[in-house]
Amino acid sequence: MSSDRTSELYEKSLELHRFYRGKIEMVPKVPISYELFALWYTPGVAEPARVCGSDPSQSFYLCNRWNTVAIISDGTRVLGLGKLGPEGALPVMEGKALLFKYLGGVDAIPIVVRERDLDKLVYIVKALEPSFGGINLEDIESPKCFDLLERLRQELDIPVWHDDQQGTALVTLAGLINALKLVGKKLSDISVAIIGAGAAGIAIARYLMVAGVKPGNIYVVDSKGILHRDRPDLKSGDPKLKWKRWVAERTNAEGRTGGIPEAMKGVDVVIGVSRPGPGVIKKEWIKLMNDNPIVFAEANPVPEIWPWEAKEAGARVVATGRSDFPNQINNSLGFPAVFRGALTVFARKITDEMCIAAAYALASYAEEKGLSEDYIIPTMEETEAYVREAIAVAEKAMEQGVARRKVSRSELEREVRELIERPKKYLRLAVESGVVAQLPK
Ligand code: NAD
Repeated sequence: MSSDRTSELYEKSLELHRFYRGKIEMVPKVPISYELFALWYTPGVAEPARVCGSDPSQSFYLCNRWNTVAIISDGTRVLGLGKLGPEGALPVMEGKALLFKYLGGVDAIPIVVRERDLDKLVYIVKALEPSFGGINLEDIESPKCFDLLERLRQELDIPVWHDDQQGTALVTLAGLINALKLVGKKLSDISVAIIGAGAAGIAIARYLMVAGVKPGNIYVVDSKGILHRDRPDLKSGDPKLKWKRWVAERTNAEGRTGGIPEAMKGVDVVIGVSRPGPGVIKKEWIKLMNDNPIVFAEANPVPEIWPWEAKEAGARVVATGRSDFPNQINNSLGFPAVFRGALTVFARKITDEMCIAAAYALASYAEEKGLSEDYIIPTMEETEAYVREAIAVAEKAMEQGVARRKVSRSELEREVRELIERPKKYLRLAVESGVVAQLPK
C-alpha cells in the first residue's frame, strides 16, 4: 500500500469514527410492550433470577450469556503500534466486536482495562466470568499473553482465546493444508522455517506439531537467530523466555544455528510472522529452499517479502496478511466461526483439536470451490465457509465432551446458519430504513 493511500485511509477512518461515534450498539432481541416489561424486568424477572441463583448453569439458558464474549485488552500491543493504553485499544476492540457480530453472529463486548499486571489481569477476567460465554484476549504483549492465556484456560469454565496466537495459527494452518495439496506434499514430511517467535510464531509452531509436522523439522527464528536448546539466552532460565525454551526443546532436531537464511535452507515452507518488510526475507534465500517453495509472509501492514519478489525467486504458492493480494491469511476467517461453534454448544473450552477441525473445514471448503495458486483459502465474503467451520468446531466440542449442550447435526446447522445470517439481514433492514445512517457524502 503506498503511503499516500495509507494516510488517505487513516483520515477517512477518523472522519467516520467521529461521525458514527462508535461502531456497535446493543439492541433488544425480544418484542416489547409496557405490559411485557413486567416479564422482562421486575416483578417477573425475579423468577429467572432465583433459578439462575440456585443453579448458575441456567444463566446459559435464561440469559444472553451463552452468546456473549468479552474482548479483553490492556492496550500493551495495539496492532503494530505498541503500548497505546486501554483507550488507544478501544477503537480496535470495537472493530473486533463488529467482526464478531457481522461474521459470526456473536455479541462481543469490548472491555479495555487500566491494568497490566499478570496476576491482576487473571483476577479481573475471572471475576467477569459469570457474565460471559467466552473470553477473547486481544493485543496483549508477549510473553505475558502466553501466561495469561494458559492460566485463564486452566481456571475458567468457559472458552478463552488469544486471537494473535490461536487465530493466526488456525488460519495459517488452513492455508498451508491447501498449499501443500497444490505441491503434492504432506504435513508429516515437510520442514518449515517460522520467522518470528512472538505470539503468532510460537502458536503456529505448536499447531503445526499438533497437526502432524515433525517437531524436529521446524526451525523458529527470532531477532537473535534460530532457536536451539544451547542458545545461551534460552539456557539462562529467564522466566520471560519460558515459551521460547519450550519451542527450542522440541524443534530444530539438527541443532541448526544462524539466522533466517540458515533456517530457510532446504525447507519446504517459510512462514513470516516477524516485523513489517519488505526485505526481512530476501529473494536469494527463497532460492535456498526445497522444490516448489511455499512462502507465507504475514507481517502487517507490509509482508516480509513482496509477493511478486517471492514469485520471481521461484515460490510456487505465496500468501500474505493483506486483502489486496491473493491468499489473505486473515484472522477474521477464524475467530467468528470458532466462537460461533463453541458458543452454540455452550462449550467449556476451545481445544487445540477444535481449532485443527476448524482449519480443515476452511481448507476443505476452499478445495471444493477449486484450488489454485491464487486461491488456497476462502475470503471473508464466503459466508458458507463460516457455517461449515462453526459446525466442525461444535461437533468436535461435543465429541470431546467439552460441550454443555448436545444438538443434532441438523439442528446445529440450522442454528449456526441462522445466527450467522441474522446480523446481515438485520443490518440490511436497518440501513434501508435509515435507522443506521448511510455513510456521509
Ligand atoms: P510479536 O511482537 O509477539 O513477535 C514478533 C517476533 O518477531 C519476535 O519474536 C521478534 O524477535 C521477531 N522478529 C522481529 N524482527 C525479526 C527479524 N528481523 N528476524 C527474525 N525475527 C524477528 O508479534 P506477533 O503478534 O507474533 O506478530 C508478528 C507479525 O505477524 C506482525 O507483523 C503481525 O502484524 C503479523 N501477524 C499477521 C497476522 C495475519 O495477517 N493473519 C496475524 C498475526 C500476526
